[in-house]
Amino acid sequence: MLTNHHTHCEFCDGQTSAHDMAEAARDAGFSILGFSSHAPLPFGTDWNMDGSRLGAYLATIRTLAAEHASPRAGIPAMGILVGLEIDFIEGLCGPADGRFREARLDYSIGSVHYVSPEGPPTVGFTVDEPEDDFAAHLESFYDGDADALVEDYYAAVAACVRAGGFDILGHLDLVRKNNGGKSRFREDTGRYRAAAMQVVDALAGTGIIVEVNTGGMARGKTDSPYPALWIAKELNARCIAVCVNSDAHQGNQLLANRDDGLRLAREAGYRKLTVVGMDGRRELPLE
Ligand SMILES: [Zn+2]
Ligand SMILES: [Zn+2]
Repeated sequence: MLTNHHTHCEFCDGQTSAHDMAEAARDAGFSILGFSSHAPLPFGTDWNMDGSRLGAYLATIRTLAAEHASPRAGIPAMGILVGLEIDFIEGLCGPADGRFREARLDYSIGSVHYVSPEGPPTVGFTVDEPEDDFAAHLESFYDGDADALVEDYYAAVAACVRAGGFDILGHLDLVRKNNGGKSRFREDTGRYRAAAMQVVDALAGTGIIVEVNTGGMARGKTDSPYPALWIAKELNARCIAVCVNSDAHQGNQLLANRDDGLRLAREAGYRKLTVVGMDGRRELPLE
């Protein structure tokens, strides 16, 4: 059963209309497609949805959900869920603050993109920004100390988890995106692992699903999905549920590197995936 809950379309920085994304998913045989546009932030960016478009987004996705709710021409029905990928910025905003409560979302993804090197609630820069910008910010905010940035990033993700208010944790170790070739920091040191383990420990017992996200790998930024295998093993040891999402920004990315995501989950010891279904959570065997 194919599902994807991490999907961007033209309401944020996706390059495909919601209509075309749904058609692509239907053609590919998906059973559940979740839309998760970048939720509006308290300030403007070129990748988040503008707050004025939230109503149109919700209406568009719900109309699509109705259109795809029944079989057509021999193709089974597809469930469509409306969600948001909501940024956590400590002291400023996050999934727990209830700004989108009235949207009555089917689910939400909690994600950290921003670090705040000058301390909350200031906004620094995004760890997944273009590499040249990232390098300049690492220098200007951290004097090039990537280990310090890593610690700030994971502290923010752990704070996001502790604050809660969402169903799925997005790309747990996104900070790896700008560490191609392990050029900026080592990922096998005690310091790195201790920072990441704060997140694993915070997740235990929360019921939050962690996504295995193949988006960075699909775009050539990492050589494995988020999170790294060793983190996935630690998650499994604590019975923390996982799903597999592609963070698609185009219709042809819905299945991108899905096999790598499934393989990582299996290698970590998982025997099932946990997804948000049309009527709450459901478990799917991981063949
Ligand atoms: Zn994201
Ligand atoms: Zn995303």
